[in-house]
Amino acid sequence: MSHAQHRLEASLEASETRYQRLLEQAAVGVLIAAPTGQFVEANSAICAVLGYTRNELLQLRVPDVLELTATRDRIAELAERQTVLSERRLRRKDGTWVVVEVSTELSPEGAFQAIVRDMTARDEAEVALRQSEERLRLALEGAQMGVWDWDVVHDSVFWSSRTGGDAQSDVLGPGQSASTVLALFHPEDAGAVQRAILEALAPGGTHFEVEARTIGEGGTTRWLSFWGKVFRNTAGEPVRLAGTTLDITARKTAELALVHQTLHDGLTQLPNRILLHQRLQAAAQKAKQVEQPVALLLLDLDRFKEVNDTLGHPVGDAVLVEVAKRLSQMSERVDTVARLGGDEFALIVPDTDRETAAVLAQALLQHLQEPFAFDGFVVPTDASIGVVVSPDDGDDADTLLQRADVAMYAAKASGAGWMFYAAEHDLHSVERLSLLSDIRLGLERGEFCLYYQPKIDSRSGRVAGLEALIRWQHPKHGFVPPDRFIPLAEQSGLMRPITRWVFDAALADYCRLRDLGRAIPMAINISARNLDEGDLVDFVERTLARFGVAPHQLEIELTESSLMHNQKRSGELLKQLSEMGIRIAIDDFGTGYSSLALLRHLPVHQLKIDRSFVREMDTNNGGRTIVRSIIDLAHNLGLEVVAEGVEDSFVLGTLAALGCDQAQGYLIAKPMPFGQITTWVKEWSVADVTGQKAAAQ
Ligand code: C2E
Ligand code: CA
Ligand code: CA
Repeated sequence: MSHAQHRLEASLEASETRYQRLLEQAAVGVLIAAPTGQFVEANSAICAVLGYTRNELLQLRVPDVLELTATRDRIAELAERQTVLSERRLRRKDGTWVVVEVSTELSPEGAFQAIVRDMTARDEAEVALRQSEERLRLALEGAQMGVWDWDVVHDSVFWSSRTGGDAQSDVLGPGQSASTVLALFHPEDAGAVQRAILEALAPGGTHFEVEARTIGEGGTTRWLSFWGKVFRNTAGEPVRLAGTTLDITARKTAELALVHQTLHDGLTQLPNRILLHQRLQAAAQKAKQVEQPVALLLLDLDRFKEVNDTLGHPVGDAVLVEVAKRLSQMSERVDTVARLGGDEFALIVPDTDRETAAVLAQALLQHLQEPFAFDGFVVPTDASIGVVVSPDDGDDADTLLQRADVAMYAAKASGAGWMFYAAEHDLHSVERLSLLSDIRLGLERGEFCLYYQPKIDSRSGRVAGLEALIRWQHPKHGFVPPDRFIPLAEQSGLMRPITRWVFDAALADYCRLRDLGRAIPMAINISARNLDEGDLVDFVERTLARFGVAPHQLEIELTESSLMHNQKRSGELLKQLSEMGIRIAIDDFGTGYSSLALLRHLPVHQLKIDRSFVREMDTNNGGRTIVRSIIDLAHNLGLEVVAEGVEDSFVLGTLAALGCDQAQGYLIAKPMPFGQITTWVKEWSVADVTGQKAAAQ
């Protein structure tokens, strides 16, 4: 070998070694094949990807590893383009495929060289991302949700929302301005949305929350609930507002229908007692402020029971509808005509002095006396009216209604047709005063005691709790029902000693039952007045500790109207009580017209449907619909539902079928003295209730 040849070989060898080392260190896989297709080179990176050793690979040919069709395509491509970058599938030793990015090159001699990058990880990430995006989209759609994002700085809104059950989706932006978006809202709600935005953007604002209607194409209205977060820069300025929308049209429609149903009389469609009470309260307050008296006329038909009994209910109903019509046509001065129940109606007449009220009462009677013929019968529609004028006769709805009632009975008794309220009609007023002073004494003398009424699970019949109900045995007047003295006590600051006495007595009885092996959760009623006591939570906590009663065994019942009485204060209080583990029940639900939206924010566990609704279930479908809606809405809020006033087994069965959780009422048990509870619990079985049904039929 010549010297020159030697040097050439040495340098060739050196470059070969360098090339080998380079190959080995490369992070990408390198595969080289001879024109025959036989592999002649493979680095460790490609060995790792394919799971072969280098020697094994060198025994193989291109088609053993590269997907066949792909090979043909690629060879054709290669022939034209020399170098090609593409995604291919390679077969591993274990038979599985791996997706790679290959840069292939065909040497002029037909040798094939490939540089391979493993794409599996990237692919998996991409698929995962696609899947999670898909899942989010499905979740949003399924929940009828949308997402929105407002770049505050550049005033650019992106909003994608699915509405309703239909597949129609509205996608807005990006790039829409906030004012374009505001134009999509119902005119009545745009203000609320704007206020919510301003509140969120104001210093310290963190959230955005509002329920509002949007108007879509073709004028369709949808209720959406918006929730979002405020994002701020380091200077604390809001830069972005983003969140979700939820289509709540179905819920809102049900709520509004429920509100309408609970506030109106099914037969005449007039406002009912609840709505009248609200309006009267507002009117009385206004009357006081502007010093313009307001009159309340309470009207009761004479001999209506006879009409019903002798001519039948259809005629009775027709009379009521006719009376409702006549009253509604009476006078423009009349602000509200309501049906209070049965054959009792009421009219609110604002800005009216006594003379005008008297003229109106007289005119009403005359108008009603015009004969009314139905199905060939001439039906009498005479009435008696009691008239009160606020503020002279009282400045709150309860007093006014009670006195109008007194005046109406006086009118009926005397046959005078109509009558103003006069103190001498009110035999109760003297008695009232003496009762008040007797309450304190009675507490000391042990004239009060507790009766207990069970709540049962409506499906299993298991005893779910006992409600403590106070009783007063007055030495002179005998039994005084709580409906008589609790309102009195509330008006005169006596609820504090009463409630504290009830807690002591009820928890002592709870312990007695527990010691007998019957630990049954205890429900105690508290009044709106108790919420104003600064140390109520403290008192409850100390009393539980004193008796060694676990907080979750105590349930506090609070009427819906007392909850509304002072929303902020009651919200805080309930929060503290429920944080202690005490359960909260909303009593008489349906009579106070609290919005369900409000309940959503309160730590309430149980909702007790007022017995006026439960009673209606028996006789009419509307009643069942109301109860069903209350149950569904309560369950949507995660609340347990109790029906009170269950008096027959048909109603109990219907309640169970509607998914009502618990029931309470005379059918199951009347309130009973403590001494009877243990026997009752021992003997109680659902079969009794069903048996009673059989007996009643
Ligand atoms: P509430 O809390 O709604 O209690 C239920 C009332 O309905 C009880 O009247 C009970 O006897 C009655 N009741 C139960 N089942 C039926 C039924 O199937 N049909 C009918 N028609 N009535 C039924 P009660 O004991 O006269 O109490 C009346 C109200 O007095 C209570 O209504 C509650 O608001 C108040 N009250 C009673 N005890 C207390 C108390 O200790 N503290 C406070 N703050 N209020 C109390
Ligand atoms: Ca109660
Ligand atoms: Ca109740």
